[in-house]
Amino acid sequence: MYCPKCFNQTLRIKPKGVVDIYINGKKRDNGRFLFNMEPGHHEEVVSDFKKKCDDFFQWYSNFNNKDSIQLVELYTIDVKCEDGCAFAPSEKFSAVDCVISSAEIKEIIGTLANKYSMEVQLKI
Ligand SMILES: [Zn+2]
Repeated sequence: MYCPKCFNQTLRIKPKGVVDIYINGKKRDNGRFLFNMEPGHHEEVVSDFKKKCDDFFQWYSNFNNKDSIQLVELYTIDVKCEDGCAFAPSEKFSAVDCVISSAEIKEIIGTLANKYSMEVQLKI
């Protein structure tokens, strides 16, 4: 990945970390999951992500004035630049197509949208 400090392709995701989930710009208090990039863990990570999205849909489907689901963002601070750049704790990096692929996100969100009769117009 591209490092915003040294402008090289030297940014790497850490083997393990935390991803925060924002859906339509909203994040629930428990809207995060642990990731593990080591082989053999991807299914478990996707399943945790799906569980958290399900929580969100359950909560959001009760809103009176709800928008269609348009934006799903995944952010993590668990990255490391090979050149040793330091980042402020407020700097976050997209984990889409890194921890979870956009195809996986689309599939999960589509399934949940059916389950909770929510409209989806995903722009990812
Ligand atoms: Zn850097």
